[in-house]
Amino acid sequence: MPFLEVRDLHTSFTTAAGTVQAVNGVSFSLEKGRVYALLGESGSGKSVTLRSIIRVLPKRRTQVSGEIWLDGVDLLTLPEGEMRDVRGKRISMIFQEPIAAFDPIYTCGKQIEEGILRHQGVSRQEAARKTTELLQLVQIPEAQRRSRSFPHQLSGGMRQRMMIAGALSCDPDLLLADEPSTSLDVTVQAQILALIRDLQETLGMAVIFVTHDLSVVAEIADEVAVMYGGRIVEFGPVVEVLQNPQHPYTVGLLEATVRGQRKGTRLVPIPGAPPDLTRLPPGCSFAPRCSYAHEDCLGEIPGERSVNPEHFARCVLVKEGIGFRNGSG
Ligand code: SF4
Repeated sequence: MPFLEVRDLHTSFTTAAGTVQAVNGVSFSLEKGRVYALLGESGSGKSVTLRSIIRVLPKRRTQVSGEIWLDGVDLLTLPEGEMRDVRGKRISMIFQEPIAAFDPIYTCGKQIEEGILRHQGVSRQEAARKTTELLQLVQIPEAQRRSRSFPHQLSGGMRQRMMIAGALSCDPDLLLADEPSTSLDVTVQAQILALIRDLQETLGMAVIFVTHDLSVVAEIADEVAVMYGGRIVEFGPVVEVLQNPQHPYTVGLLEATVRGQRKGTRLVPIPGAPPDLTRLPPGCSFAPRCSYAHEDCLGEIPGERSVNPEHFARCVLVKEGIGFRNGSG
């Protein structure tokens, strides 16, 4: 069994406007030492997928079904007490906005130290020593002095490094990263991506990285799952998907991105807007925005069609073993 296996995950929320079907049958697996990217626009279901794995969604209004196996244990059936242990010891999460992850009235070092004390049962002195080591690991200069800083006294990049240090404090096997570099300027963003990739290689963790940015995917991931309307519509090794995209949505994302285009080529935004998740259309949910849409797209949800053993897309125009762009024209 793979280290992490998500099977047919469905997550929905009850709201005044109706039931939001945020994740609709997501399945994937991941081994330790690999970086898996979930790519898509806002509302595609990528962040909800992460939060479903670590089980931090509001209980009263959320319905989650399917299976999430971590090292042979189904996380969705674990009692909350045991899941708290998993969150403290095996899975960590880093967020887009680190300021929200820290309490403004305590120093960052103190908060990381408290996490170590709570989950590892070591002495305060040992927790302080480990905190300094972690700050050094995430390349915070003058680690001991900076550990006494309050969140507001640090730059965005330094706060993000502090949050990564906090996430690593439990020696996680699985790190979930929810757009952790989006709010940073380009130079700091590149530094944080390089840091996460270095740490992942050094510590051998599995990482799931959520982003809407193709250049981030190219920088950090081994495999990419493109999400639309709460489903994975294309999956494959990053180089393969970026060089030979098969789903019209992935093609649209590339054409709308500087990285996907040759110098001097006009960027073409994808027309229309993501689907209303309270009223997903029958059939392919990309159809209202797809220039190739025809009758066959509107009946059933397209199944996975393999371009090769490592690469699939959910589009009726993809021919098994041949693909869309190469075969059907
Ligand atoms: Fe477009 Fe049809 Fe393919 Fe959906 S199934 S992406 S509507 S061609």
